[in-house]
Amino acid sequence: MPTLNPDDSIFNQLETFGHKKVVFCSDPDTGLKAIIAIHDTTLGPALGGTRMWAYRNETDALHDVLRLSKSMTYKSAIAGLNLGGGKAVIIGDSRKDKTEALLRKFGRFIKNLNGEFITAVDVGTNPKDMEYIKMETQHVMGVPESIGGSGDPTPIAALGVFMGIKACVKELYGSDALTGKTIIVQGIGHVGENLVKLLRDENAKVYISDINDELLGQVAKKYGAEAVSTNSIFDIDADIYAPCALGATVNTQTIKKLKCAIIAGSANNQLEDEEIHGQMLLEKGVLFAPDYVINAGGIINCYSELMGFSKKRTMQLTENIYEATRNVLKLSKAENISTIVAANKIAEKRISDIKKVKSTY
Ligand code: NAD
Repeated sequence: MPTLNPDDSIFNQLETFGHKKVVFCSDPDTGLKAIIAIHDTTLGPALGGTRMWAYRNETDALHDVLRLSKSMTYKSAIAGLNLGGGKAVIIGDSRKDKTEALLRKFGRFIKNLNGEFITAVDVGTNPKDMEYIKMETQHVMGVPESIGGSGDPTPIAALGVFMGIKACVKELYGSDALTGKTIIVQGIGHVGENLVKLLRDENAKVYISDINDELLGQVAKKYGAEAVSTNSIFDIDADIYAPCALGATVNTQTIKKLKCAIIAGSANNQLEDEEIHGQMLLEKGVLFAPDYVINAGGIINCYSELMGFSKKRTMQLTENIYEATRNVLKLSKAENISTIVAANKIAEKRISDIKKVKSTY
């Protein structure tokens, strides 16, 4: 992905990332300051979560929403969904600044987009917030199950990551069995814990790390995993590293230390720099499952909700992540390109192919 220059004009930034539309939502009465970015709608309406975050400044908020909305385009494209990419950010502290009125006003702005943008939960928002937004617009997913939503997406997100891990194991070892494989799961929150369960059910040896010591102890005991300190994870001689906490953990320093043969986890934007670190991993012979390919379970859950939720269909679409990952690995090998470049190529090809389909009314 190209790097944005925050000193550039807003229109130049949109051109760099290929955005279609950006909406600035301002409502002094409710204190709402939000940005909705619609990156691409070739495949369908732009679907992406709403993040609420106390950004240092508006430039950071704009940068975040442009970057995140573009990744949503690629994530949905490669998952085979008929969705475009979008994202929204509300500028504010989700613990202090969130009110019913602010969220409902935000819902009104989404309503005015007439379905071009559909939102869902992200960092700093929850299903209850989506319920408020839904009071003003139908274009919201991830509402509570009690009002027709698809419920907690995290087990589905973990299943997608699990399928991605298996696809990498198959590529490297000829079989996708996880028995006896060693895996480090960094971050055992919503997705991480569900992933630990799936891995332990297949008798993998699992190391876990988290900054929350209490949670670490509980999860270790519950699933028979081994707790390790956060700063020792790169010293462990494991087969797989699954980043499920933060982005940018794969960088020049960690790649040098890394002993694993595979990196596959849920965290968004794991490579600090796609181009540099994707290439470094290729040269080191480490198989990297691009995060947006294998963490698509959450968006698949939303898509399923949009189509009239079916658990069976959601599971099928999530299991397809196995084949999607295999295709990325195959292209990377055939063309000797990093897996992230291979994934981007596959996603871009699907978008340009479908553009041709849609050229006739
Ligand atoms: P979460 O907040 O529930 O869990 C994150 C965990 O990481 C927490 O337990 C936290 O204590 C831990 N953590 C934070 N910093 C850490 C560090 N330095 N070392 C070790 N642990 C650390 O979040 P989640 O919903 O489980 O999501 C995890 C990641 O997956 C995030 O990057 C998220 O963006 C991504 N993701 C989530 C979903 C989803 O459906 N929830 C879907 C796609 C991608």
